[in-house]
Amino acid sequence: MEKGWTGLPYHSISEHFKRIFNEKVYKIPVSVVDDCPNRLGLKGMKTCSFCDVWGSAAREESFQLGLNEQILKYKEVVGDKYNAKKFLVYFQAYTNTFTKIPSLRSNFETALQHNFVNGFIIGTRPDCISEAVLQLWQEYCQKTFVAVELGVQSFNNSHLEFMHRGHTAEDSLKAINKISSKTSVDLGIHLIFGSPGETTEEIKQWALICNDLPITNVKLHNMHVLKNTTLEKWHAEGTFTPIEFDEYRDRVATFLSYLHPRIAIHRLTAYSSRWDELIAPKWTADKMGPHQKIIDHLRAQKIYQGCNLDVQNEFDRILFQQMSLRVERTTGM
Ligand code: SF4
Repeated sequence: MEKGWTGLPYHSISEHFKRIFNEKVYKIPVSVVDDCPNRLGLKGMKTCSFCDVWGSAAREESFQLGLNEQILKYKEVVGDKYNAKKFLVYFQAYTNTFTKIPSLRSNFETALQHNFVNGFIIGTRPDCISEAVLQLWQEYCQKTFVAVELGVQSFNNSHLEFMHRGHTAEDSLKAINKISSKTSVDLGIHLIFGSPGETTEEIKQWALICNDLPITNVKLHNMHVLKNTTLEKWHAEGTFTPIEFDEYRDRVATFLSYLHPRIAIHRLTAYSSRWDELIAPKWTADKMGPHQKIIDHLRAQKIYQGCNLDVQNEFDRILFQQMSLRVERTTGM
C-alpha cells in the first residue's frame, strides 16, 4: 500500500487503478449513445439544468466515428504521447444503460477485442439500471474489469430538484446497494457541489454517507453554467450564481476531511473543456490551476482525507497513519 502513495493529501483514483493493474491505466472516452430519459422528457422528466447538448461530456467529432474508430484514434494519440500500454474504455456521455442489451453487449465486445483494453467504465444514472443490465455487467465482471460511475450528484432532494435530475437521493441509495449486492463492479459516484442553499454541514454529512456505502471512488464537480442550459437562463435572470473558487475549495476540504481514506477521488474540480460554451464561473476553464490551488490549501491547512474522522480499528489506524505521514512529508510539519 505504502508504495502506491504519491504524496497527495488525498487518495487519488490513479493510485486506486495502479493497485488493480500494477501500472498506470489511461481512459479512452467514447460516445455511443446520444440521449437519456431526461432529454427525451420521459415520464415528465426535464433535461438536467446544468447539462448542455453534449450530455455533459460527448465530443462532437466522436459521433462521426464508430466505436472501434474512436478507440483506435484515441489510443494512438494517448499511446504515442505517454507511451501508454493499458487502457479502459470509458462509456461516458449521456446515459450508457439507456439502450437495448444486445447493443450494450456489442459495445463491450467491440471494446474487448483490442488487447490493450483492460476493461471498461460505464457512466449512468441511478434510475436506469434494470435486472438485465445488472446481469450483463456481472457476466462481464467474470471476464474483465468493469467499473460503473453513477450520477448521484447530491444526497439532498431539494438540490436534485434544482438540478432537474428526476430521481431522488433514496433512488441513488437503492441503486448503489442493488449494484453492490448483484455485481462485483468497481462502483463510484459523482457529486456536484454548489447548489443554492448548500451548507458545510451537509457536505460533511455526504462524506459520512459515502463512508457507509459500498463504493470505491467519488468524482467531484463544481456547478458551472454552460451555454444552452437552464442554468444559463437562471444565471441571466439573476436567480442563480455559481459559487466562487474559495467557497468551492473550502467545501472540497470539508468533504475530504470527513471522507474515509479507502475511497479514491477522481479529481478535485470539474474542468470545462468547451471554453466557448462556459458562462460562469470563469475559473472552471483553467484545468490545473484550481486543482493545484486546492492541494496547496489542503497542505497549508494540514488537511488530509479523513483527518476529521475518529480512528476506530486497526485497518483505519494504518490508513490514517499513512495519510498523516503523507502530509508531514509534503508540508515539512
Ligand atoms: S446530465 Fe445526463 S441524465 Fe442529465 S440531461 Fe444530461 S445526459 Fe441526461
